[in-house]
Amino acid sequence: MGLISTQEDVEKSILFTTVDKMVRWAQKSSIWPATFGLACCAIEMMSVTDSRYDIARFGSEAFRASPRQADLMIVAGRVSQKMAPVLRTIWEQMPEPKWVIAMGACASSGGVFDNYAIIQGVDHIVPVDVYVPGCPPTPEALLFGVLKLRDKIAMGLPPKYIEVSRRQAKG
Ligand code: SF4
Repeated sequence: MGLISTQEDVEKSILFTTVDKMVRWAQKSSIWPATFGLACCAIEMMSVTDSRYDIARFGSEAFRASPRQADLMIVAGRVSQKMAPVLRTIWEQMPEPKWVIAMGACASSGGVFDNYAIIQGVDHIVPVDVYVPGCPPTPEALLFGVLKLRDKIAMGLPPKYIEVSRRQAKG
């Protein structure tokens, strides 16, 4: 380790930021998803944790078995009417701030299951921050969705449920 001697060295050694920016950086760098899969899309979701796709690069490999330790719900698969209240309960048990990714056509819009048993888009049950298209979306597509979510957090955009409640408060 050399001594800090010149002004240039000093400038390289000191980091100026705001607490707000630092918090956002910490949040986007450690998004922990809930361990929760509903159908075929969940297989692709599991793939992102392996060495090929390596979601650990973004600090999100720690899928949590308890919703109380998770701040991201990846809805991977179709949501049945029966499952909807369970999904809502899990989401409510997650601490704030929290985010939701709708992974795939079924989670986003019901997909090919245009029938009474399937919710036609999980945004009828919980507010969704990022939609990932595809049937199923590739692991790369899900990673792209996670990167988009990181961008939203870094920009200081509020989670969707906060946006929705602000809109409702305004009337
Ligand atoms: S989008 Fe396709 S792969 Fe995903 S749950 Fe629906 S049918 Fe299965």
